[in-house]
Amino acid sequence: MNKPAHLMGGFTAGIAAAKYIAPTVTENGFVNGIAGIGAVLCGAILGSLLPDIDHRQSYIGRKLKIASFIISKTLGHRSVVHAPLVIFAFSALLYFFSIELTSPYQAIAKYFVIGLSAGMWSHLFLDMMTRRGIPLLYPLTKKSFRIANFKGGGIGDSIANTGCIIIIILMFLDFL
Ligand SMILES: [Zn+2]
Repeated sequence: MNKPAHLMGGFTAGIAAAKYIAPTVTENGFVNGIAGIGAVLCGAILGSLLPDIDHRQSYIGRKLKIASFIISKTLGHRSVVHAPLVIFAFSALLYFFSIELTSPYQAIAKYFVIGLSAGMWSHLFLDMMTRRGIPLLYPLTKKSFRIANFKGGGIGDSIANTGCIIIIILMFLDFL
């Protein structure tokens, strides 16, 4: 999937995270505020691009050159940072760090991490629809798994974008 499809996936995942997940982790209803929703969405947008940090020519790879160089050289593209277990562990680690912060930074950081995680999961899901797939069961095996066989930038991106728009509309209409 290309960058626009990943951004769209991240945006959709961010709205879902703001609607369903963020309200469950706090008592003060902070996520109802624009700042809370903004933190979730910013995290989701970043998260939707972040896994491609292992690819030096990707958008995020060009922005974070040094980190991308190190990760691509040591881990390779679509390897460890495209593995669900690693994304889960990374999200959990950041979440525990955010809990250590004091208020009000804690709330902002928590929502940002929730969004970031949602964005990264959307990235993995979309990459699973492509030919290269993702290392779904890493570290058990490095074998790639996929649920579809699309090429980046092709009809798969259009299907993903259309699907995201439909999901967003359904969420706004409270059907989801
Ligand atoms: Zn990717």
